[in-house]
Amino acid sequence: MGDTASAMMTAVREISVFGDAISYFNEAATLLDLEPGVRRLLTKPSRQIIFSIPFQRDNGELEVFTGYRVQYNFARGPAKGGIRFHPGVTLDEVTALAFWMTWKCAVVDLPFGGGKGGVTCDPSSLSVRELERITRRYAAELVEVVGPDKDVPAPDVGTTPQIMAWFMDTYSMHVRQHVPGVVTGKPLEIGGSRGRVEATGRGVSLVALAQMRRMGIEPREASIVIQGFGNVGSVAAQMFADAGCTIAAISDVTGGYYNAAGIDVAGALAYAQEHHSLDGYRGGDHITNEALLELPCDVLVPAALEKVLTLENASRVSAKLIVEGSNGPTTPDADRIFNSRGIVVIPDIVANAGGVTVSYFEWAQDRAGYFWKESEVNERLADVMLENFTKVSDLAQLRGVPLRTAAYMVAITRVVASMNIRGVYA
Ligand code: NAD
Repeated sequence: MGDTASAMMTAVREISVFGDAISYFNEAATLLDLEPGVRRLLTKPSRQIIFSIPFQRDNGELEVFTGYRVQYNFARGPAKGGIRFHPGVTLDEVTALAFWMTWKCAVVDLPFGGGKGGVTCDPSSLSVRELERITRRYAAELVEVVGPDKDVPAPDVGTTPQIMAWFMDTYSMHVRQHVPGVVTGKPLEIGGSRGRVEATGRGVSLVALAQMRRMGIEPREASIVIQGFGNVGSVAAQMFADAGCTIAAISDVTGGYYNAAGIDVAGALAYAQEHHSLDGYRGGDHITNEALLELPCDVLVPAALEKVLTLENASRVSAKLIVEGSNGPTTPDADRIFNSRGIVVIPDIVANAGGVTVSYFEWAQDRAGYFWKESEVNERLADVMLENFTKVSDLAQLRGVPLRTAAYMVAITRVVASMNIRGVYA
């Protein structure tokens, strides 16, 4: 497939992701009786920026990529959201992701709006120096509109702590000040936070264990299936195992590995680190990723890709609880089937908000110039996740709606309250 064709495919796929996000928003907005004017305002981004990024390859050739930054909403604070380096990035995709970040930050009560950015490059085809040049030009183009009080980027698909370090350095050089709080997800040496790497997987397991308690599922008797054994999936697996659960299956891009007696998570992690994947792992029977999603279990954690739980397989999923570690793993059709079958789903905007929560802690530590111990980070992460998850579950019970709808209701109510108190400057 040519570059243009594959970019179009991605655009179509992502527009429909935005469609899914809007459909959840609309459902919650209707239940909240949201005024049409407010609804109009919240379904439009505040600011979309598109620019060219010329850069010179190591061989001297000149190329031009496109850079984006979307600042979706500022009602509760500076925009917050990652930067994606991927050849298929489009304005629609970045807007959809910035829209999502608005609700994710609000549902865990962070003082941020939503943002997202991207560059249409393929990092795997670039040298380290080429990546650095692209990052610095991208940051330089955004100097006036980002900053600790304006918009705070972070890593996303294709970007790393090193890329955040170059971004922070470029911004600091331009404004002639040391400004670590302009981005999060930085290496520890330049103002990153302890506990950031584990934060998303840790948050996933915290809310899952809280919901299991509500459902009367005893951790020591619970079987857990996890799709994806990267940052989110592997940390969540370790946390579940530490709580006494049996990890019945794990998977990565090479397939699933099933062991009814329980996968040895530490052993699997060591194997994956040594071999750069689970390929050839012998601690479980090899199954497909599709079969893994349908295994009988108490808790299923999709932590790899979007749209893996669909109209096609939802009726065969036999978990009691689904915890969305990845973004957008469940299509709205599948979601309806899970609701009608009584399968509880903890939605992505709550389940994987641990990462942005510790990004908020990083921003706060950078601004104070005072860094916390890892135990303090983890304790505060648990407070934020559990307090807000309880609000969402209580509302779901009170209104008789699924957790996803309740999560959007909590998030929208908070954003609208800030908008109303501030008023419209017009
Ligand atoms: P990662 O790259 O560390 O891991 C991804 C895992 O998915 C790997 O094990 C990979 O082998 C597996 N995978 C890839 N293609 C697959 C396929 N076709 N079938 C099955 N498995 C496949 O990524 P991550 O940081 O763990 O993120 C996972 C998901 O969580 C993504 O949707 C991401 O957007 C979301 N998320 C991550 C964070 C974070 O802080 N890392 C925060 C919020 C949301």
